Amino acid sequence: MVFSFELTEHSKLDTRNSKLNTAFMDICDLAPSYIRSIAPYQPGKPISELARELGLPEAGIIKLASNENPIGVSPLAQRAIERAVADLARYPDGNGFELKQALSRRFGVDPAAIVLGNGSNDVLELAARAFLTPDLEAIYARHAFAVYPLAVQATGARGIEVAARGFGHDLAAMRSAVTGRTRVVFVANPNNPTGTFVRSRELEAFIASLPPEVVLVLDEAYNEYLPEELKSDSVAWLKRFPNLVVTRTFSKVYGLAGLRVGYAFASPGVADLMNRVRQPFNVNSVSLAAATAALDDTEFVRRSYELNQAGMRQLVNGFERLGVEFIPSLGNFVSVNVGDGARVFRRLLERGVIVRPIAGYGLPQHLRVTVGLESENERFLDALSQSLPG
Ligand code: PMP
Repeated sequence: MVFSFELTEHSKLDTRNSKLNTAFMDICDLAPSYIRSIAPYQPGKPISELARELGLPEAGIIKLASNENPIGVSPLAQRAIERAVADLARYPDGNGFELKQALSRRFGVDPAAIVLGNGSNDVLELAARAFLTPDLEAIYARHAFAVYPLAVQATGARGIEVAARGFGHDLAAMRSAVTGRTRVVFVANPNNPTGTFVRSRELEAFIASLPPEVVLVLDEAYNEYLPEELKSDSVAWLKRFPNLVVTRTFSKVYGLAGLRVGYAFASPGVADLMNRVRQPFNVNSVSLAAATAALDDTEFVRRSYELNQAGMRQLVNGFERLGVEFIPSLGNFVSVNVGDGARVFRRLLERGVIVRPIAGYGLPQHLRVTVGLESENERFLDALSQSLPG
């Protein structure tokens, strides 16, 4: 009986679908409008692409466009990668046991409260997917990291962008934007591309002020670049706020952007939901091994931090010499007002220097530059001085 019912239903569907197909010129028209209107993420221009365009050797080009670590990969991670490559015929550990144990030891968090991702980009999307539906809303700030609107839009939920204050998050305005339909709020601390930062006390008060049914995704991708005294005790807040999700990454200070590893700390219930919507093997075995080793390489992290501090001073001094305004930043990048971002970007490319235009972030006069090695920063400043208008 059941079998014949299914057959009948199937044939009905087939007829309906073939009628539907002739009515539409393009199968893409059948995707939900909120998917069709997604504007793709604009990544930094790869070195190889500019080398092809300019007919230059890759070695003659510097890329300060994607907030990567200029000193490369930690030696401990490098060795772990070589060992892991020997076992590539096997699937990875889908639960990331070793990496979760290492994170648990380092941060005092229960492994059941950890979600691993293919970059922290992945865990940001998992948070959106676990909580948002087309009838709900998510809030983020103007000039905040571009992945928040993308992750929200892919769920069909409505994204609410709240005006910035001094290029940074206006937490009071964000709190006022919360309605009965708000389910997720994103805060990047420090934020990319502005490098702006919210102080611990202000942030804690903001979380406490949110209704308990609103999830706060606190994106700390650049946390390790903060001086110790400015770091929030966000991991400790997890005990008090079951609606808090803290995300971090191995792409920045740990130097593993190409391997794509990030993680979230959340209450075990929330972590369980996020784990249900991820791919079973979303972090590959080489990445798991590299991240586990990188976490222990405190010497590499210290060197990366110090290089960033010195490089930031070098860039800021250079901007002051050139008389250009910049947004004071606590990340490994800084956004500088060059008047006409698109034009100066092109001029820098002609000189073999790739930075990031940020007109898409509502900052058409600015360019974002990643702190590089001393020689790279110098070369950028030199190219900038020749590229500024007038
Ligand atoms: N959050 C912020 C604020 C970022 O700037 C970035 C990287 N540009 C990410 C998250 C995602 O980085 P990843 O996926 O490499 O961890």
